[in-house]
Amino acid sequence: MSYRIDESVISNFLTNHTRALRLSAFPLDPLSRQCPICRDLYHAQDPAYLHPLLPADTHEYPVQVRDRGPCNHILGRRCIERHVRAGQPWSHACPLCREEWFPAPNSARTEIVSTLDNVLGALERLEMRDEVARQEVENMEQALETIREMLYSQRWI
Ligand SMILES: [Zn+2]
Ligand SMILES: [Zn+2]
Repeated sequence: MSYRIDESVISNFLTNHTRALRLSAFPLDPLSRQCPICRDLYHAQDPAYLHPLLPADTHEYPVQVRDRGPCNHILGRRCIERHVRAGQPWSHACPLCREEWFPAPNSARTEIVSTLDNVLGALERLEMRDEVARQEVENMEQALETIREMLYSQRWI
């Protein structure tokens, strides 16, 4: 399936649109110091590495989404990366509020299909008196239908 998000998009998002937060910015009660996804308690960011680089065995630490529309959610750094790398239909959007952090990886395909639908609709509305022209329009319709089927079945974009 084609929901996998390009590495450069993930890296740009993590670098420019998430910011590591200090634990001291949180109230002391444990409930406000846990990742809303995995419920692990937040730890301080390990000073041995820099955000957004993430070693595999890191503790969960809090990052906040920024400059992505109304979503300012705070999530665990591990979970946010796991989420955008999961290759699911909603991996490009916040798991809490569904705000889209960046375009869906197959949004080009959606746009192409809807453009095709518009063209097919326009062709259907044409009234051709000339027999040769009518046949040509029918051929075009068939070709576009074939492309449409390919887009739906293969999801290659
Ligand atoms: Zn988590
Ligand atoms: Zn959100």
